[in-house]
Amino acid sequence: MYKVSSFVLKIASRCNLNCSYCYMYNMGDSTYMNQPKFMSLDTVKIFAEKLRDYCKKATIEYVQIVFHGGEPLLLQPDYFEDCIAIFKETAPNLEYNFTVQTNGVTLDEKWYKLLQKNDISVGISIDGPKKYHDEYRVFHNGKGSYDKVVEAVKLGKKYNLMGLLLVVNIHIPIEELYSEMKKLGVERLNLLLPDGHYDQAPFGLDENRFDEADYTPYANWFIELYKIWKYDKDRPSIYFFESLIKMVMGEEGLGNQLIGRRTNGVLVLETDGSIEVVDSLRACFEGITRNEINIHSNKLEDLFENDTFQVYYSAHDNVCEQCLNCPVYDICGGGFLGHRYSNENGFDNPTMYCKDMVRLISFIQNDILDSLPENTIKQLDVDILKYENIIKGFSRNNDLKITTETQKKLSSFKKEVIA
Ligand code: SF4
Repeated sequence: MYKVSSFVLKIASRCNLNCSYCYMYNMGDSTYMNQPKFMSLDTVKIFAEKLRDYCKKATIEYVQIVFHGGEPLLLQPDYFEDCIAIFKETAPNLEYNFTVQTNGVTLDEKWYKLLQKNDISVGISIDGPKKYHDEYRVFHNGKGSYDKVVEAVKLGKKYNLMGLLLVVNIHIPIEELYSEMKKLGVERLNLLLPDGHYDQAPFGLDENRFDEADYTPYANWFIELYKIWKYDKDRPSIYFFESLIKMVMGEEGLGNQLIGRRTNGVLVLETDGSIEVVDSLRACFEGITRNEINIHSNKLEDLFENDTFQVYYSAHDNVCEQCLNCPVYDICGGGFLGHRYSNENGFDNPTMYCKDMVRLISFIQNDILDSLPENTIKQLDVDILKYENIIKGFSRNNDLKITTETQKKLSSFKKEVIA
């Protein structure tokens, strides 16, 4: 049976911000318009019952519940207390990790106290210094949200509940970004690559230069950040870098939907009770995550029959032939499924960020090796990764062949097939 232990509850389908790159509202899919604005407690109750039944069957003891949106803090504080009571009463044998992912603009002392009382950790989205943040993360009247978010971040330090989520913007000079994070006293930071695919380039990627062998703007940016971060004795935890370092050093079982070889055991509950695969795939095309499965009439496991779920769950195994033969496949994992999409091949592509990943992973490996004595490197008997050689290797004949079944599955996801 598929093992899903992370559940994203889209408790609000609307948002008080209108971020220009948002996959929910400004990229490819407008189906949120048909959703109720908020998830009812009745839906939460039914979900908790079905969660209990599924976890029992799948022998899952620990679950992560992420309150997400839209903007989840559009709901009232009582709503969160009611939700948690429902989970604990309905499925008391489960161990919970509750998190809320918010844009932070209404996150004040009252909210922090409530979240602390209920042991709910907080992820706040921020996109760097004011000038950059306010370019994208704006209210519906076009006004930037930075000042409000920073208030929430500063307040959050007192409660030690908070980590920051940052969508990478390679136009932000690294020194500026890093000193901003230090100024805010950030202790935990996660980095997200902007959504996009082969037919809708993410911001920061120049489509005209995409085929140039040496064009890796994201890796160049990450490497600069890595260098500053690495030498900072009081550095924040950056999951993206820490996972890459550990994987380069041979640690297994790490990663997420972006990197590594783990399965993606995540499921999304929409405000109307629809059960879906992760909504960031919506940037591919309208309706890609939609199906007929609803918590009010189905079991959680019914999603496991869904093609999109199946391919997403094993996305780091369901990869194109280039990935199968790539020397950094175990670390990159072929990237996030949505970043592989093209109208021509469906998901049968490496990630849009392929060359960036090759450069970044090679850099990290070389950097680690440079810090070791020569003898140790000899004993380790590792292949030293070289960006140019890996890129050249992509045009050679592949030893490992993709199975017809996997290729058929990956390429079946095309806009015209579902639309
Ligand atoms: S670096 Fe490119 S080819 Fe290698 S696994 Fe990642 S996406 Fe695939």
